[in-house]
Amino acid sequence: MTSRDGGRGLEGRTALVTGGGSGIGRGICRELARAGARLLAADISYEGALDTVDLLSLDGHQARPVALDVTDSAAIGGIRSRLEAEGWMPDVLVNNAAIFGMAAIEDIEPAEWDRMIEVNLKGPFLMMQAFIPRMIEQRWGRVVSISSTAGKTGEAFASHYCAAKRGLIALSRSVSLEVAPHVTVNCICPGFVETPMTRTETRFWQSRDPNISEAEVRMRMRNQIPLGRMGRPEDIAGAVRWLSLPVNDYITGQAINVDGGLDFH
Ligand code: NAP
Repeated sequence: MTSRDGGRGLEGRTALVTGGGSGIGRGICRELARAGARLLAADISYEGALDTVDLLSLDGHQARPVALDVTDSAAIGGIRSRLEAEGWMPDVLVNNAAIFGMAAIEDIEPAEWDRMIEVNLKGPFLMMQAFIPRMIEQRWGRVVSISSTAGKTGEAFASHYCAAKRGLIALSRSVSLEVAPHVTVNCICPGFVETPMTRTETRFWQSRDPNISEAEVRMRMRNQIPLGRMGRPEDIAGAVRWLSLPVNDYITGQAINVDGGLDFH
């Protein structure tokens, strides 16, 4: 059965998901494993990665945890060598790990700016640099990076985050032009998704207006979404799976919104 007919589609492939120990990353790991891939759940939190692997193993999937800080180029090199020696080099790379923060432009410390760019933009660059060459060599690969609708529209009090996410779209687009035709490189842009990251945003708005409840902040977010609900990790994961399938070899260099209709372009 082919994937067009509803088959799984990623049998015999290995996928590495950064930030695979939490939220959307965990959902992506689950979805790619269901599609038949062997999973490398990589996270700065080894415990988080291990929890994801335990969940996948319970469902009978083959998966391994990887302790990985995407900003540490030496560590990435070490992991790459290990995976190569063990026959676990990824055919699918998902750049999902990121940090989020909110502050007015005048309150963002230069060190905070640097860390935002380091994790959210330099991290995906280092991961692509480490893992794309083998994809080119084997004439097949998929890179999907998780940007954000905020990287297209901008968002007040998140200028450092938005700058990094916009940069990730430009990085992906540029690399897609370099590595065509056998490797595709795309971004998914989520809107508001229920994860631990969303709590940073609700806490920020509550810090500016102590009378507003968390439920009210969430209602304001929901009210902006035409499809009437917050996103779920599986909404994003489904799109990542779809872009990763071998049958999808005619989509590259795109930044696709998966946001309940929040944004258009
Ligand atoms: P999350 O629950 O905070 O997950 C992010 C994961 O990345 C965490 O496990 C985090 O570990 C890990 N991480 C942080 N820094 C890392 C590093 N240097 N190296 C490796 N791993 C690192 O967030 P999420 O909501 O699932 O976000 C996933 C992606 O979706 C991100 O790219 C985010 O920007 C994007 N996104 C999310 C939303 C949303 O509404 N949630 C909207 C648009 C885009 P720790 O928890 O230990 O830091």
